[in-house]
Parts: sequence; C-alpha cells; structure tokens
Amino acid sequence: MQSQLLINGQLVSGQGEKLEVFNPATGEVIVRVAEASAQQVEDAVQAANTAFEQWGQTTPKERAEHLLALADVIDAHAETFARLESLNCGKPYHCVLNDELPAVADVFRFFAGASRCLSGLAAGEYLAGHTSMIRRDPLGVIASIAPWNYPLMMAAWKLAPALAAGNCVVLKPSEQTPLTAFKLAELAAGIFPAGVINVLFGRGKSVGDVLTGHPLVRMVSLTGSIATGEHIIAHTAPGIKRTHMELGGKAPVLVFDDADLEQVVEGIRTFGFYNAGQDCTAACRIYAQKGIYPQLVKALGEAVASLKIGPPEDSSSELGPLITKQHLERVTGFVERAKALPHIQVVTGGEKVNGPGYYFLPTLLAGARQEDEIVQREVFGPVVSVTQFDDEAQVLAWANASDYGLASSLWTRDVGRAHRLSARLQYGCTWVNTHFMLISEMPHGGQKLSGYGKDMSMYGLEDYTAIRHVMFKH
Ligand code: NAD
Repeated sequence: MQSQLLINGQLVSGQGEKLEVFNPATGEVIVRVAEASAQQVEDAVQAANTAFEQWGQTTPKERAEHLLALADVIDAHAETFARLESLNCGKPYHCVLNDELPAVADVFRFFAGASRCLSGLAAGEYLAGHTSMIRRDPLGVIASIAPWNYPLMMAAWKLAPALAAGNCVVLKPSEQTPLTAFKLAELAAGIFPAGVINVLFGRGKSVGDVLTGHPLVRMVSLTGSIATGEHIIAHTAPGIKRTHMELGGKAPVLVFDDADLEQVVEGIRTFGFYNAGQDCTAACRIYAQKGIYPQLVKALGEAVASLKIGPPEDSSSELGPLITKQHLERVTGFVERAKALPHIQVVTGGEKVNGPGYYFLPTLLAGARQEDEIVQREVFGPVVSVTQFDDEAQVLAWANASDYGLASSLWTRDVGRAHRLSARLQYGCTWVNTHFMLISEMPHGGQKLSGYGKDMSMYGLEDYTAIRHVMFKH
C-alpha cells in the first residue's frame, strides 16, 4: 500500500511522529504512517514555489492536458481508489465506485476545460490615451487542507481549480483518511512536473500550522470544521493570506403540505443518510408543515428503518460505519441529549450498534423544536430531525435562524412559493424538490459560519486567481 508523501516529485517517507490509520468498519489499524517533519513541510513549500516559476507560465492548453491525463489515470485506477476509500472511510464500496469516482474524474475534466475559458474583462480606453486590461493570474503556492468525509473528492475539488489556474499546491489530507491521497500522489508524480503537486501527511498542530503559516504560502483553502476554519483564519492573519473556507452545514429541508410525499420520503431517505449522514449538505433538519407532518413522520420512519446498514464490501449496504470511535461517541451524545427531552420521539434508530466497527443506526427524531440542539447543531451522522411548522413566514424565519448557510431545499408544487422562498433562503444553495445534487459547472460554498469561497464552477477557478489591472499609455 502506497503510504509515502510526495515532495518535489519524489515519494518519500515521513520523518515525523508515526500515526495509526484505522478501518472504521472493524476498528483495526490498517497502516502506521509517519507525519511530515517541519523540514519536509519546508521542502514541499519550497518545491512548490520553485515549480511555480515554470507551471505559472504554462499555457491553459498545457495545464488542461495534464489535468485530463490525471482524470484518465483516475478512471483507470477507479477500483483501487474505491477499495482504498472504502477501507479507510467505511463507505460501501459500490457507492464509492459508482457515485464518487466518476464525479472525481469529472472535476479534473471540468477544470481542464475551464482553464481554457478563464478571462478578464475586455480591454478598453477608460482614460484618454491609455488602454486598460484586466488579467486573472495565478497566486503561487496554495496550501490545501482536506477533510475525512470524502477524502479523494475533496482533494479533487482543491487540486483541480488551483492547478488549472496555474498555481502549485501542497495538499494535506486528513490524518484519518490519507490513503487515496497517497495513491493520487503516486499517479500525479508520473504526470506533473516535480513540485507542482506535493502531498503531506499529519495533524493540524504538527503539520497544518507549519504549512499554513509559511510565508511563501499565498492562499489556504480548507474544507473542514468551523473550529479549524476560525483557527486557520487567525493563524494566517499576520501574513494577510487569502483564505477559502468550506465549513460545516445544517441543511434545512422545508416540506409544504402540497409536496409530493413519496418524493420527499425517497429524497430524505437518500440525501439525509448518504455517507452515513457525514455530509455537510445532508438533508438533516426537516421542517414539515402541520398538514403533511403526521404522514411524513410515519412514511419517513418506515423508509429510514428500511435503510440497510452493513459492511462496506457488501453490495447491498446503503450505509456503513462512522469514521472514528470518537465521532461515534459524539453522534451518540447528540442523540442521547435529544432523547432526554420529553417532546422528542424516536421514530426509528436512536442508538449505536454493538460489536466491532463504529456503526450508528439510521435515526429519525420527531417532535423536535427550533431551539433544540439537534435542530441547531451539525451532528454529521445518520440522524434526521423533524419539526412541525404552521406557515411560510414561520418556516422561512426558522430556516434562516441558523449559524450555518451552506445548503437548503424546499419541497412544494407551488411554483410561486418555490421562487419566493428560494430568493430569501440564506444558503449557498437551494434545491427545489430535490437535494444534494452537486455538479462541476455549478458553485458550491456557504454563507455565515459555513464559510466563503466557491468550490467547482468558474467561480471556483476565479477564487484561485488574482485580478490584476495592466495599463498601457499610447
Ligand atoms: P476538521 O476541521 O477536524 O479537519 C479538516 C482538516 O483540517 C483535516 O485535514 C485536519 O487535519 C485539518 N486541520 C485541523 N487543524 C488544523 C490546523 N491547525 N491547521 C491546518 N489544518 C488543520 O474537519 P473534519 O472533521 O475532517 O471534517 C468534517 C467537517 O468538514 C464538518 O464540519 C463538515 O461539515 C465539513 N465539511 C464541509 C464541506 C463543505 O463543502 N462545506 C465538505 C465536507 C466537509
């Protein structure tokens, strides 16, 4: 199993402390990997900075060709990637192979094309006798920090736009889930010039802080928790670094009396529990209007109870374990505290599964109130709450009264209402009569504590560039 770091085109072993990487389905250690030392972080940043001299000067066509080649090798190694991701995250293998891998390759292909379409505004004479033009140029070295919930996809979301724009990257995957990033590093080393992509390994304190605080790092891109986002913003403030923050979420799902019940139930069953609910856009905070509430709770309870939880290698498993023992305890804590409230009903699930692995039963909690912790805070597990509401004004106020602002959905047959509400929901994304659908062409990113900056789309590419004005005197 490839478990080396990529620094300046060479696969090298870490020289720092050894960490254990676990299989969440069994609790067993898969491999022990040494973190990068401070010197190795330094070497990676210096390599990226040196490589930028050349890579920053390549044409969009050349960069596109490299990204397309990477997409092709990802396709060619899709089964290996899916096996590693499934082993390291506990995700059902068939879900990774069929859902995630095609999306990963597509992100590289999208940004290959996008790099050739990037442009500034048209040139013009805004001062007599002078021509102004606007350029979008790369920034230099980008530190990219990825989370554990979709390790390879998040690596793709970070690497593809940064490279397409002409930057060089030092990527740090989560210390819990580095295996697919290591494999990607090995394949990328055969495609990209030395130093353009570097992959480190280690924790925030030992590796992350050294990396993000390095003076040659011009931008830090994080997908992770709000706490880590706050820390990185403060840590990089003295260097006035650009930051790009994709943080947590607590997606409200507004279900009106006139919604198609069957579609709502199928939607929440799928989009609330995919990846065992460890998804920043998960359909987890349901608001159901009082007319549809009783039928929805009943039908959704049956649907959630029918979800198949099981080992990642079983092709009938719909969800696997949670990522770590600590996370299992965290999710259990949220549910226990909710269960202790007299108004909460456990419709199905509500507890962890005994035995090896970090499994938690798919859970539906009804009767939740707006002020409850289970409605207000991100659980990041297979736990969905339902809250009853009276009318449009009330549910809009409740949906927006949240620290988070990443994703939302509303379910209604009333087109006017769908437009009215989607214009006023304070979320980076609002889906109407669906949820969770992400595509490379469309921006993904939050508001409020969910962060700022966009992944994917032309906006994602622009985020990795500097806007510059160049003026010519005639
Ligand atoms: P986390 O913040 O604990 O870790 C994320 C990454 O940050 C890891 O690589 C970690 O090592 C690194 N990190 C931690 N401290 C650091 C430091 N001081 N300096 C540099 N890096 C540091 O988050 P997690 O538990 O891995 O991921 C779950 C969180 O990510 C959830 O809150 C989830 O909502 C969020 N998330 C958001 C999106 C999105 O698109 N908005 C997508 C996926 C996950």
